[in-house]
Amino acid sequence: MRIHLVNPSDIAFGTAVITPRWLYVLAAATPAQYGDPAVIDETLDAINLDSIVPGDVVGIGIHTFNALRGYEIGREVRKRGAVVVFGGIHPTLYPEESFELGGAHAVVKGDGDRVWSTVLADCQAGSLKATYEGGRVGGASFQSARWDLLPADRYMWGSVQTLRGCPKHCSFCSVWRTDGQQPRQRTADAVVREIVELRRMGFRFILLSDDNFYPVTVEDLRLAERQGNTARIESLQEIRRERFELMDRLAKLPDDLVFYTQITMEAAEDTEFLKAMNRAKIRGALVGVESVTPEGLKSIFKDFNYAGENLVTRLKEFRKHGVHILGSFIFGLPTDKSDTFDATADLAQRADIAFAQFIMLTPFPGTVDFAKWEEKMASDPTRVGGYPLTRFWLIPRELRPKVYAPHPALSPEQIRQGTQSTWDRFYSIPAIWERASIIKSLRGRLAFVLISKLYRQMYANTGIATDSARASRSAQWARWLARPCRRLFVAAPMPDLQVPT
Ligand code: SF4
Repeated sequence: MRIHLVNPSDIAFGTAVITPRWLYVLAAATPAQYGDPAVIDETLDAINLDSIVPGDVVGIGIHTFNALRGYEIGREVRKRGAVVVFGGIHPTLYPEESFELGGAHAVVKGDGDRVWSTVLADCQAGSLKATYEGGRVGGASFQSARWDLLPADRYMWGSVQTLRGCPKHCSFCSVWRTDGQQPRQRTADAVVREIVELRRMGFRFILLSDDNFYPVTVEDLRLAERQGNTARIESLQEIRRERFELMDRLAKLPDDLVFYTQITMEAAEDTEFLKAMNRAKIRGALVGVESVTPEGLKSIFKDFNYAGENLVTRLKEFRKHGVHILGSFIFGLPTDKSDTFDATADLAQRADIAFAQFIMLTPFPGTVDFAKWEEKMASDPTRVGGYPLTRFWLIPRELRPKVYAPHPALSPEQIRQGTQSTWDRFYSIPAIWERASIIKSLRGRLAFVLISKLYRQMYANTGIATDSARASRSAQWARWLARPCRRLFVAAPMPDLQVPT
């Protein structure tokens, strides 16, 4: 009984930026008696179906946007006699789809860290159940990944998770509902051991792939103090203490390491935290800016963010502490107007952010926005490829609309074009070169240009383009750029590196 773990993707780039952590975590959760699992990441190469033989177990992890490809694989490998198990956020929300469309024998809901070994044991005993509840495992039970199974020379960045969950409740985001609002932190020891393993292998850039690296804000503490809630103050302080402990440990790792994470903008007013991030070599962070107007932020329950000039000041604060920002912006919010695209591009350039992504608002399953939209659309008779718009991920890719929810002021094409032109503007060569001025060496600046272009080709053109020719040209460019880019990120292995005490 050979175990295969598959990360489905419609596009293979040959080289990928970030190691898909969940694959290697499930590989670690696979008991030794089954041998090393075959790890298949289709963002590198498509699965070789001939490698699947009757009796094998194929674990397929999917989210909403690769569900369709996952279902194709599930049906194919089932035909070849494999036992098919689905897991991930999407099957947690829609387990029935995996059975109806993906050929599933079983579905795992929630975290797979602990329950995966039970699934395999049941499989071997011939008593596989249809559904397994993985729940939300505590931080101490997070599996460390099997990095020894990574293929050589295919990834640019390592990835290590330090916590799951986010206390916020943004209406477009499913994280707080699926991973919970109570942060579940790993011990600093477990995190550092994994990082050391990755650095030994030559990974210098490491993503701290957390839902929100900054789970306790200064305002949270102030509020708890105002309420005189001693238990809450103590619990918040404990979470915060563990964050600082982790950052102190990261500070002791080799100086050439570079960490990148995701945080909320509120960290900009927490100087102590920013200084600790700087010491910990956290040189970059994705910040969900979402909208540059207060009305836009209110519409998505994210009014803890700043807008306008305050926003520029906050974003610059990160730069002052050596943390370079990847700003994430959403277009298509009900409050957006035709001038929102230019206003956003201007602000992104003025705020000294290094990278930006501009995303068209898509109601994600599991979010508050999706629930409202689904209710509103209940009587809508529209069908594309046989599916209602509220099941857009099942619509064949070539027929799939780019914008789903009707907008009070903009047509779907205006939103699509506005988004595409904002990417074009932000990633024009003169604009990238201007941003590259933060780097002193010419080599470093050229690397910055190359990486900016790669980022744009991988994440913008392939997703927004309406014609398949443009999408496939972009994928081709990304394949070419990815190889030389990888060399810019990796370093000589340090096989003797020890875990600092
Ligand atoms: S968008 Fe970010 S801050 Fe908001 S709930 Fe999701 S993870 Fe938390």
